[in-house]
Amino acid sequence: MALPFKEVADFLYKTESVSSRLDITNFLAELFKKTKPEEARKLSYLLLGKLAPDYEDIEIGVGEKLLFKAMSLSSGHHLEQIQKLCAKIGEIGKLAEELMKTKRQKQLFATPLTLEYVYEMLYKVSTASGEGSIEKKIKYVSELFNLASPLEARYIARILVNKLRAGIGEPTILDALSWAKTGTKELREQIERAYNLCADIGLIAETTMKDVKLLKDFTITPLTPIRPALAERLPSAEAIFEKLGTCAVEYKYDGFRMQIHKKGKEVRIFSRRLERMDQMFPDVVKTVKELPYDTIVFEGEALAYNEEEDRFYSFQETMHRRRKYGIDKAQEKWPLHVHAFDIMYLDGKALIDLPLKKRRAHLDKIFPFGPNLRKSHYVIAKSAGEIQRQFDTAMKKKLEGIMAKNLKAHYIAGKRGFAWIKFKKSYGKAVDTVDAVIVGYYRGTGHRAKFGFGGVLVAVYNDEKDEFETIAKVGSGFTEEEMQQFKEMLDKIRIKEKDKRVNSKLTPDFWVEPKYVIEIMFDDITRSQQHTAGEFKGRGFALRFPRFFRLRDKSAYDATTVTEIEEMYNMMHKLH
Ligand code: ATP
Repeated sequence: MALPFKEVADFLYKTESVSSRLDITNFLAELFKKTKPEEARKLSYLLLGKLAPDYEDIEIGVGEKLLFKAMSLSSGHHLEQIQKLCAKIGEIGKLAEELMKTKRQKQLFATPLTLEYVYEMLYKVSTASGEGSIEKKIKYVSELFNLASPLEARYIARILVNKLRAGIGEPTILDALSWAKTGTKELREQIERAYNLCADIGLIAETTMKDVKLLKDFTITPLTPIRPALAERLPSAEAIFEKLGTCAVEYKYDGFRMQIHKKGKEVRIFSRRLERMDQMFPDVVKTVKELPYDTIVFEGEALAYNEEEDRFYSFQETMHRRRKYGIDKAQEKWPLHVHAFDIMYLDGKALIDLPLKKRRAHLDKIFPFGPNLRKSHYVIAKSAGEIQRQFDTAMKKKLEGIMAKNLKAHYIAGKRGFAWIKFKKSYGKAVDTVDAVIVGYYRGTGHRAKFGFGGVLVAVYNDEKDEFETIAKVGSGFTEEEMQQFKEMLDKIRIKEKDKRVNSKLTPDFWVEPKYVIEIMFDDITRSQQHTAGEFKGRGFALRFPRFFRLRDKSAYDATTVTEIEEMYNMMHKLH
């Protein structure tokens, strides 16, 4: 039997009043148990407020006006009445619920909504385009409302305006899938491994529900992004050599990471956040198409290069030029070079289980290729002195630092580990910077009052508990323009109550959805009763003198983790 949408609405309702992650995981596992594989796929997307993985670019989201018109059609209320009621109730989901309670044309004998049907209609709403599409969208939405119960309408409306905010993230879905199949966390690792190799949560849910045996042989699917391998950090050449011994050393280019997939004539480029970037980089797409392999997946760092000055442009400079002068002019004047540093798939075979040394041998055969595909600088260092020399040369070249890599390590998708170690130049006194996610913000006082922005409350990610734990209040480092920009951005994602995934003892003036990640400079890491990051005996980690540095192109789950903070804390306190 097809899963009634009522089950989904009941689940969402239950989660609204429960804050324990374990309870939510259990409820979700129960729900997964009732789904068919294809339904599990759709459910996973919907719970994340999506219809497909991010890289497919299918966004839900209709304007309030359109929604009101559809509500008016279904409920028989006039638009003005609805607008007034909306001002009174103040939340779109509850508004829809209220209106559907008094629905004039009660369809008593109508068939109940199913998850499949809701998904299909939402898909139609989101993809309708061209002439008459507004009318079509209104029709689809009102058809949904016609069949919806008041509670179902609450969640349909929230999904439609992109405000479902169920406080459920990918990690909870992965856990729940394991619980659904085994009643324990037993399968979690296998499911996560599959997800790391193929970052489509829907496909992973569908595969798991179909047959867990399929997870074992799960491997890379060209054109579907792989979750990137991530680096640990160490503060000195000695520390690196102690950890790795003889190792590969590469330059760390300050550009942007590109994961490039080719299958036949199709090329896709994914960003660090696994969003599609091919449209922005037609120059790279063109060369990749010419590579003499049917399937290939590789990774590199892309930077624009200024021939006159013989220097690379940073990420910011490159993007600025592409925006300001247009892609065509920018690619002609400041060509983009991709410095390939890893290869994960070639001609029908996954290479991730080969040691770096062998993967590098493949890269050496393929690159350089064409005008813009190069190889990262790569040497084998046999002593701490050699590592240090590479670092010094990188500094002279105005690069960010070096990456030291374990020659024997596999490509470890989606995980941070010592297979790759970054050694960066430090900013001022700080050993490194922290990437933290904004969970709330403060109204400004004094001269900041005019911007309505006085700083942000930020959190790091605890991947064991799947929660965001606060680590600092950041008020300095913002220019006036940035204050305005942040106020605008954050206003759009304001929420009435704290997101369920946030653990905080402080209450900012406004809570926001954990979405934007900022890079923060600081002088030291201390322990404080105010913060919850890695809390131990009532005291969490806190950043001393935090300063905003820049906005990062990262998702909330890519924020620095509590484990990393702990390592940085130990490292800093050992060094001082
Ligand atoms: P992370 O990616 O580890 O979360 P981040 O995005 O803040 O952190 P860094 O910590 O500065 O970036 O370092 C890792 C990044 O360095 C990679 O994601 C990649 O974009 C970049 N990079 C530059 N050169 C190389 C290289 N030779 N090998 C691997 N990564 C490189």
